[in-house]
Amino acid sequence: MEFDAHHTLGIDTTFRHFDSSSSGLSTAEAEVRLLRDGPNALPVAPPIPLLRIIFSQFKNPIILILLVAALISFGIGENLDAGFILAVLIINAAIGTVLEHSADRQAHALRHSVRTLAKVLRDGKEELIDAAGLALGDIVVIESGDKVPADLRLLHTYHLSADESLLTGESLEVGKDAMAIFDDPDLPLGDRSNMLFAGTYITSGRARGIVSAVGLHTQIGRIAELLIGRSAVKVPLIARLETFSLKIAAAVGVISLLIIALSLFRGTPLLEVFFLTVALFVSAVPEGLPVAITVALASAAVAMSRRNVIVRKLPAIEALGSCTLIATDKTGTLTQNRLSVESFEGAADAVKALEAIVIANEAYRNRQGTFGGDQVDVALALYAQRQNETVLERMEYPKTDLIPYEPAQKYSGAVIETETGYFAAIKGSPEVILAVCSIAPSERDALLAEVNSLAREGYRLIGVAYADTTTPHLQEAMASKRFVWAGLAAITDPLRDGVETSLAHCHEAGITVVMVTGDHPETALHIAKRLNMAAGMEQVMDGEALSHWYENGGDPHALADIRVFARVSPEQKLQIVRAFQGLGHYVAVTGDGVNDAPALKSAHIGIAMGKSGTDVAKENADLILTDDAFTSIVGGVEEGRRAYDNIRKVIHLLISTGLAEIILVLLSLAFATPVPLLPIHLLWLNLVTNGIQDVALGLEPAEPHVLKRGPRPPKEPIFNALMIQRIVLGAAYMGLIGFGVFYTLLAQGVPIESARNDTLLLMVLFENLHAFNSRSETRYLFKISHFKNLLLPLSIIAAQAVHIAAMQLPWTQQLLSLEPVSLQVWRELLLFAFGLVVVMEAEKFVRLRRK
Ligand code: ADP
Ligand code: MG
Repeated sequence: MEFDAHHTLGIDTTFRHFDSSSSGLSTAEAEVRLLRDGPNALPVAPPIPLLRIIFSQFKNPIILILLVAALISFGIGENLDAGFILAVLIINAAIGTVLEHSADRQAHALRHSVRTLAKVLRDGKEELIDAAGLALGDIVVIESGDKVPADLRLLHTYHLSADESLLTGESLEVGKDAMAIFDDPDLPLGDRSNMLFAGTYITSGRARGIVSAVGLHTQIGRIAELLIGRSAVKVPLIARLETFSLKIAAAVGVISLLIIALSLFRGTPLLEVFFLTVALFVSAVPEGLPVAITVALASAAVAMSRRNVIVRKLPAIEALGSCTLIATDKTGTLTQNRLSVESFEGAADAVKALEAIVIANEAYRNRQGTFGGDQVDVALALYAQRQNETVLERMEYPKTDLIPYEPAQKYSGAVIETETGYFAAIKGSPEVILAVCSIAPSERDALLAEVNSLAREGYRLIGVAYADTTTPHLQEAMASKRFVWAGLAAITDPLRDGVETSLAHCHEAGITVVMVTGDHPETALHIAKRLNMAAGMEQVMDGEALSHWYENGGDPHALADIRVFARVSPEQKLQIVRAFQGLGHYVAVTGDGVNDAPALKSAHIGIAMGKSGTDVAKENADLILTDDAFTSIVGGVEEGRRAYDNIRKVIHLLISTGLAEIILVLLSLAFATPVPLLPIHLLWLNLVTNGIQDVALGLEPAEPHVLKRGPRPPKEPIFNALMIQRIVLGAAYMGLIGFGVFYTLLAQGVPIESARNDTLLLMVLFENLHAFNSRSETRYLFKISHFKNLLLPLSIIAAQAVHIAAMQLPWTQQLLSLEPVSLQVWRELLLFAFGLVVVMEAEKFVRLRRK
């Protein structure tokens, strides 16, 4: 049993135990240890093995039915038929396997594109590394929102608490204290308050800890097998479509019974009826649907990742298509978060003001000498550096207390010891800072007026204050309200490139955008105005007004016209999301902090920031923006709508052609003619026309108007009135004309084999052209560029070529009872088939004119 009772060791003993020190390991030493102990990583669930995918194809009822049919054909000596059915079966299973395999690979690759980073001390400098590169004895710097990267024995803690429910099942957050020490080596994990465990989350505070276990040796690693199991949650859309396929199968089953009864009544031999039913079943049931949808969604996920959106949960793709409102952060999302201090209006002692700026500062200097950390801190540190390089030394001073910045409190501060006592420094939103300063009311009002006017110009404002005190504790120092106002930093944050265009796109796409920010109302409004999001103060609501609103019942209608929420606390973000949902909106919300998790979860679509976001936010989101940019959300919406459209296209093609085949056979029963297509013809038809075409439709590019129409109603089923109308119209034309041609040929005395031959060719042509009809519900075919998705026209030409070849080659002629047709006949049939395009285009024309 390896030693895992680091909670019983004092801090010095721990350093000795791991042969490390407060400045961390050297890079060279860390490398040695990494080689010795292996990377700090848990094994991940491997992609589904190919064999499993292949076998799973045979769980499909259609395949089983075909298998039975093949066996029966073989049993009665129809070896050719049996061989053909087997070939159909193998091709079906092969297509399914290839598609599922590649979709799974893509999903797997995407899952692993989100890495956990850790801030580590190497050679005494802070550095961001991949968490897998942590070695025993490394010193890790932790802040709120982090996912703990390895098991750590804590060295320093500032107001630290963690959510360890993953390990202990205890949902309450637990306070942590580096100074605690325990005797009992078997103390329950939840009580080891001087430790942090890999995989748990920091809910607040800051800390440093020494890595005491990595990878499989961490507490979570020991139970890893339990956790890495693949979560087999099905995408709701796919689940719904599978049920839908089953329903169709049931319906086709009923129709088949009808057909069986009718044919037996007419004296058709039982075996013939059996094969016809099997063939009809195979053609009409859209068994390729779930696979085609998976492909469409996987391709959307890949397209989104190219546009800087990582999809954590596939259903979010579908959900994005119905998004009606985006509640977005300001800093970093609409703006660049490349902050710089434009002016600092100091009031008192300039040197002390600069000292206050660097002491109440959580930026750190990395190896390259540049600053890392929160952008506000970095901007202030750079400003101080420009003014007076030496003052930066103060940054490294040991602190007797520290209150880290948390959005909910809007300030941060620290205390250092001096020759005469203590020096406390704070910085944050000017209102909060002024509240603890001893300052004449008139001066305070003047300052607040100044803050307002600078905010109106779009500056982000940070107040700075300090106090010489006798206490090492910041909270105590602040309670005395004797801070000296040191000055006001006005920070600029330029708009991100392209946000104006993106907001215009949202507007056209019927998506409302509201800003939810912790910043000053005037600063927020300034930016909102530049982006045409809000017209004036009447559309701005601040945190105070929000809490009044909430206490008075929180009527959602009161927020309907608000576009900017300023000085908002993270809890209020959740209230805002809920209110807009109450107004019937389908809400996407962005978030980065720990406290954003509830809002991210509760919104229809939670979007986390990939760069500035905390691990907690990412873990609770459906989507992650790798570049934090608002523009990427709009790209995501576009891809989401495209995916949904494409799914509709696939469904249209599959259901419409299946229905056409049923109509064809039913008509022949009604008119008491021989069947227009032999079972083997139906199987062949299915083989040459389905599969590649529906996958090609799933990969269609976005239609140009995807962002110019309103969002679809979230509750609207895929089978809306329009879908049904188009499916029935197309199927009726194909079934009626198909049967009409067959009937006429028979009436003219054409031999039955030739009549079937021509009918089959016609059906192949129908289904080929119908793939084009499926390309758009609203655009005329001659307006679509058919070269953007070459797979579709190519697969259609290939299907025609294969069928024509089959009519020419002696072997297939015999197998499928086919014969060549003259160019003349082909052209005539093509003309009939072209009628389908005319009918579908006419439907668009009538429908679009009526609107
Ligand atoms: P946003 O929604 O724009 O990201 P934040 O919640 O980050 O706004 O910030 C709200 C306010 O808190 C800012 O206007 C600023 O006054 C203050 N603030 C932001 N970052 C810091 C920081 N690192 N230290 C101190 N105060 C900060
Ligand atoms: Mg922020």
